[in-house]
Amino acid sequence: MNSKPFIYDFDLEQLTGQMKSWGIESYRAKQLWSGLYRELWNDPAQFSTLPTALRKKLGEEFSFSSLKEEISLHSKDGQTTKTLFNLPDGQAIETVLMRYEQRNTLCISTQAGCAMGCVFCATGQMGFRRNLSSGEIVEQVLFYARHLAEKGQKVTNVVLMGMGEPFHNYDASLATIDRLNHPDGFNMSARRFTISTVGLIPAIKRFTKEKRQVNLAISLHATDDAKRSAMLPINQRYPIKDLIQACHEYVEHTGRRITFEWALIQDVNDSSEQARQLAEHLRGLNCHVNVIPLNPTKGFPGKKSTRERVAAFQAELTAQGISCTVRVRRGIDIAAGCGQLAERTPAELNEIAES
Ligand code: SAH
Ligand code: SF4
Repeated sequence: MNSKPFIYDFDLEQLTGQMKSWGIESYRAKQLWSGLYRELWNDPAQFSTLPTALRKKLGEEFSFSSLKEEISLHSKDGQTTKTLFNLPDGQAIETVLMRYEQRNTLCISTQAGCAMGCVFCATGQMGFRRNLSSGEIVEQVLFYARHLAEKGQKVTNVVLMGMGEPFHNYDASLATIDRLNHPDGFNMSARRFTISTVGLIPAIKRFTKEKRQVNLAISLHATDDAKRSAMLPINQRYPIKDLIQACHEYVEHTGRRITFEWALIQDVNDSSEQARQLAEHLRGLNCHVNVIPLNPTKGFPGKKSTRERVAAFQAELTAQGISCTVRVRRGIDIAAGCGQLAERTPAELNEIAES
């Protein structure tokens, strides 16, 4: 394992303090910051703005890379790319880039594995390994930012919807956004980030108090507790009524709209009656519903809803006055869809790509 501190784990203030302790003026820290987050340099030798001795010192004191690209896969339609990274301690995570006409949306992981155990999710099926550090989350974005920069493009949106529950790793997840938000660095507006949570109420309350510009999405998937608990075990601790109440408080306090995610599973939660119940639960809340037909995972036998059912569900919600979009399934041929990310070996990934 690399024992040097990882440079992307630090904010500008901390780096300034570190350099001050070496007797170096603060404008040098700003130059370092700009090199890391504007130029996207990740090798001390590249920092042409800094004196050679300082570059050498930085290289001695800090590690500039923790993610090792193991393999990257491209979907057949060329719109989705997924990268498997290895971490220094042997953990593996996956990151997905989705290209749309005007957008490059990156789906990043916040944990290796996940402790929440949602039955239909490949990450949940593998269990929890560990939290990622903020630097490990940041580096996923910078990796793709570098690739896109080569084509004159940028990461336009970041969703914390990859492996893991971002609110179970609250500090690192939010520190990531703060770091990438910094005007003298990566300068990506908070509005371009979306956090998706399984519904950890204390974290939602904390997030509400912080009044950030970041978008919030709640994975709901069911409107009765027995059904939701069977799919999302954390519901036993944070039942639907309390969750919806926390969502109301969020919307009232921040003035922001909230999104609900609903994976449509055939004959489980996809009837028109179910859509009416959902509308009933969300009545009076400034919200939007994103439905997505279930993606297949190894450990869950449920099937995605038929096209007709999806359309009928959306139509019913809309008729009830709830705005609803059907999320296009992306990258299923490379197991890069929602809930399909897991630790895999390159061989397993190659097999997926070839099948
Ligand atoms: N842990 C967070 C974010 C990562 S999961 C959360 O649960 O919200 C991202 C989204 O994918 C969530 O809405 C989750 O419910 C959904 N999801 C998980 N497995 C899925 C599957 N097999 N098909 C479709 N969506 C799935
Ligand atoms: Fe974790 Fe989200 Fe998957 Fe549930 S759906 S197991 S919270 S990553």
